[in-house]
Amino acid sequence: MDWKDALLDIVKDSGLRLRFREPLAKHTYFGIGGEATAYIEASTTTELAAVARFHRQWNVPVAIIGRGSNLLVSDTGFNGIGVRLVGELAKLEVDGNVVSVGAGLSLPRLSKAMSRRGLSGVEFALGIPGSVGGALIMNAGAWGSSFGDVVTEVTVMNDTGELVNLTHAEADFEYRHSGLDTYFCVTGATLKLEPGDADTITARMQAFYKQKVETQPFAEENAGCMFKNPPGDSAGRLIDISGLKGYRIGGAEVSTVHGNFILNIDNATASDVLNLVAHIQQQVREKTGTSLQTEVKRLGFDD
Ligand SMILES: Cc1cc2nc3c(=O)[nH]c(=O)nc-3n(C[C@H](O)[C@H](O)[C@H](O)COP(=O)(O)OP(=O)(O)OC[C@H]3O[C@@H](n4cnc5c(N)ncnc54)[C@H](O)[C@@H]3O)c2cc1C
Repeated sequence: MDWKDALLDIVKDSGLRLRFREPLAKHTYFGIGGEATAYIEASTTTELAAVARFHRQWNVPVAIIGRGSNLLVSDTGFNGIGVRLVGELAKLEVDGNVVSVGAGLSLPRLSKAMSRRGLSGVEFALGIPGSVGGALIMNAGAWGSSFGDVVTEVTVMNDTGELVNLTHAEADFEYRHSGLDTYFCVTGATLKLEPGDADTITARMQAFYKQKVETQPFAEENAGCMFKNPPGDSAGRLIDISGLKGYRIGGAEVSTVHGNFILNIDNATASDVLNLVAHIQQQVREKTGTSLQTEVKRLGFDD
């Protein structure tokens, strides 16, 4: 039997929502990329476990898609199952200063909800349009804070469908990286936040957001910072002094506002973006001696 027919069988008896030939461009902030062979929304750990076991049994690739804000999908799409976490997997529970979050929850929503409750620690996250799961995988951060800083425990699912709790140390948080991408899926985390004055926390969150909007592009489609900052330096600065702001290949252009952002300004393809990435890396290496490493994750490419 073909795996797609087998998947239909699994879905029949579950609450899973399934679509075939789903355009992934609409699930990414870049607005780029071909179709996923199948796309599923899972709302409980039981549903997600069924997908995990299916992946293991049929050896079909699965990609968890958070908000797609750090993702470049190939022009030929993804020959596998894209999974989005919704419902119970996007929950938010608060007990004093201990917060339990589902991986599907949006980071800006978390940031706003915590400031309203007078809990400090995620003010930096209002301008990061990802999910909690994506923020855990990437150890997303800004203004000197990273998401991992407030995490005490992470829950992951392995490909047998079993849930495993990891300590902060076991999550292996580093700069824009964690050790969590070795598991089938991150399902949620426990955060410990600092109680404080709601108005002060809200004002700090809004000040961070204002500063971000003023210094980074928001109108055009993009995937945030394309490159990691090299130790002690800024990728944006290196791209700027290499004279690359405004440089364009096909429909992809280096932002004139912030050099570390590549914009989809005119129906860019994934190839346009990757050609521009390669050009930037080569020029920056030639002019500054620094090798830039990409921060944005790729889906559906051979490498
Ligand atoms: C305008 C803009 C501004 C940004 N600003 C910042 C910033 O200031 N700081 C910063 O750090 N980032 C920033 N980003 C990048 C991005 O928002 C973060 O990296 C974010 O954490 C990604 O979350 P996501 O849910 O969108 O992940 P996605 O892009 O959907 O996925 C990223 C990777 O994580 C994996 N993944 C996602 N969820 C799960 C899960 N539950 N389990 C397992 N794997 C999972 C995906 O498979 C993929 O490999 C910005 C992006 C944009 C578009």
